[in-house]
Amino acid sequence: MVRADVDLVADIGEVLLEEDAIQARVAELAAQISADYSGRQLTLVSVLKGSLPFMADLMRHITIPLRIDLMEVSSYGGTATESSGLVRILKDLSSSIDGSDVLLVEDIIDTGLTLNYLLRYLRGKNPASLRVCTLLDKPARRLVEIPVDYIGFTIPDQFVVGYGLDYGELYRNLRFVGVLRPEVYSS
Ligand code: 5GP
Repeated sequence: MVRADVDLVADIGEVLLEEDAIQARVAELAAQISADYSGRQLTLVSVLKGSLPFMADLMRHITIPLRIDLMEVSSYGGTATESSGLVRILKDLSSSIDGSDVLLVEDIIDTGLTLNYLLRYLRGKNPASLRVCTLLDKPARRLVEIPVDYIGFTIPDQFVVGYGLDYGELYRNLRFVGVLRPEVYSS
């Protein structure tokens, strides 16, 4: 159930990335991707739910023909702010990616465990190429080294919400990325 009394903006202690900065960077990434994939069979695969706003904005800035597909995964065995690396696929790809140039669109890479699992899974589906685009990168906590081809912003080791990212399923609809006040976690 949605807690209707939560004041989303008041719960934010610090804004890390303003809406304008996010939009400008997404447009830059899209221009780079449009140039790099020109003449190729581009399929964007996004991972729900956190990547939804990023995917929606990124694809509309890309100027070459593309297909999209969506997966949904959940990590389990972790906590509200820590991933465990154990990944369950809740929604699989709808179409074959055999022979496609796949670009995996992620919200954030933290330990890298989720991405590592997804890349191994997608590689098994025989794409012509497989690369990664993430809005946010938190390299401080990386446990598996993974080459990331497109990075929106590198951020410090803080738990962030907004622009798709949640805490307890809330805050995804904020248009900026911020850090919650410490009281929010303890309440
Ligand atoms: P990893 O497996 O790389 O540790 O974590 C990837 C997933 O953990 C992300 O897709 C996201 O769902 C979640 N995650 C990691 N860091 C953050 C964060 O700072 N904020 C939020 N809201 N989710 C995060």
